Amino acid sequence: MKYFPIFTDLDGADVLVAGGGEQATQKVRLLRKTNARIVVVAADANAELRALAHEGVIRLVARAFIEGDVDGKRLVYAATGNRAEDAAISAAAQARGIPVNVVDAAELSTFITPAIVDRDPVVVAIGTEGAAPVLARDIKSKLETLLPAQFGKLAARAQALRDLIHGRIADNGARRRLWERLLLGPFRHALLNGADDKAERILSSELNGVQSVVRGRVALIGCGPGDPDLLTLKAVQRLQEADVLVIDRLVNPAILEYARRDAERITVGKTPGGASTSQAQINRILVREASAGKAVARLKGGDPLIFGRAAEEMAALQAAGIEVEVVPGVTAAHACAARVQLPITLREQVRQFSVVTGATSNGQPELDWDRLAADGSAFAIYMGVGNAPVIRGELLAAGMAAETSVVIVENGTRDDERAVATTLGDLTDCVTKRAIAGPAVIFVGLDWASAGLERPASVAVHHAERGTAAARRELDSPVGKEVWL
Ligand code: SAH
Repeated sequence: MKYFPIFTDLDGADVLVAGGGEQATQKVRLLRKTNARIVVVAADANAELRALAHEGVIRLVARAFIEGDVDGKRLVYAATGNRAEDAAISAAAQARGIPVNVVDAAELSTFITPAIVDRDPVVVAIGTEGAAPVLARDIKSKLETLLPAQFGKLAARAQALRDLIHGRIADNGARRRLWERLLLGPFRHALLNGADDKAERILSSELNGVQSVVRGRVALIGCGPGDPDLLTLKAVQRLQEADVLVIDRLVNPAILEYARRDAERITVGKTPGGASTSQAQINRILVREASAGKAVARLKGGDPLIFGRAAEEMAALQAAGIEVEVVPGVTAAHACAARVQLPITLREQVRQFSVVTGATSNGQPELDWDRLAADGSAFAIYMGVGNAPVIRGELLAAGMAAETSVVIVENGTRDDERAVATTLGDLTDCVTKRAIAGPAVIFVGLDWASAGLERPASVAVHHAERGTAAARRELDSPVGKEVWL
């Protein structure tokens, strides 16, 4: 290790930034996170620096650097953009033993500024000794997703409580256990979620010696269509916190990488014809795990509130008095439309868009066919592959044109994604001949041409060969196999 990491106290300290361009401004922006007194020396300062000087945030000395500028400074930054001038500033600072950083010149610097994840007072500094700043940024963006926005508030609250807790609890071990309960348990959870009142109630019962009953909780997490990059930051945080994961079959296993390795995993869910866990069993599992005081992550495909049977799970948990949180996810229709760049609404043309289910508990689709078949109607069918022939038949019978555009996206955002454009008339043939087995979204009434767009090359086109009796028979038999809830 050539560079030794330290945190320097800049409260009320004088810091010099030499230079008036973008690089100097960047240093000023960073230094403004502290309470340092910032002096900028520049013959020619940019508009942002002049505005800051006008507001009294920095002191701007409008002339070129002179040696005496470094006197009394805690830190010096040289960012004049002129190598000779930067070198002179560095020499002046070093002669007085003042740490100096010259932007983009490690050989002239005695310290370097790390990449920072700021959850003040929690600050993570990442350095690569200049070897690979890209890697530092990569680590930074990973940490940004892991540390909740309110993390600093939690640390600040802990800081404010230190004396009080020290005064109340003399025993070191007991104090440590209290800190662990507060900073890793329900107090933390309440504070990070903005439930400040609740956090204070937990705190006061802890301080009064009533150990808060460890209450479990459940997060219904929308895990999106498959691609882990579509997880929300909140979903990743909840996955990290979970003691136990209750996983739907539709959830891409790659997403489990974002959970703690030691979290217990329970796979539930339904595949038609395959082994399945009934909804009542799933509800019981959730209540059982949360009642045991665990943080439960209930992983669902797409968005939990769309065809996800979230209502039943929430009702069971409510009835058991267990706290539930819903974390939204990218639903299949949105993700699939994005993959094939298919606009879901269209100015002046598509003013409404619905999501419908092509399956019900008795297996048959029960939809308002007349309304769906109406002119200008656009919708996405979930769980519709197995019933494609019935859906096609009902829509045609309700008067929808056979030429109506249909786009099917199977396994959207996954490695085995397939997309095909066809028509309502050819829907069954397409699903059969191309062996579409789902999960798939079937878009009806949307196309690229009406939006003035080209169909992406990744989307195949399917036309049925017409005429044979065999082909017609095929059109009427059920096809495919698809996950449904
Ligand atoms: N809650 C989920 C939907 C669950 S119902 C969501 O919001 O997306 C299951 C149906 O979702 C499947 O039958 C299929 O129609 C659709 N689906 C889920 N994942 C999909 C994917 N990766 N690609 C295409 N369709 C998908």
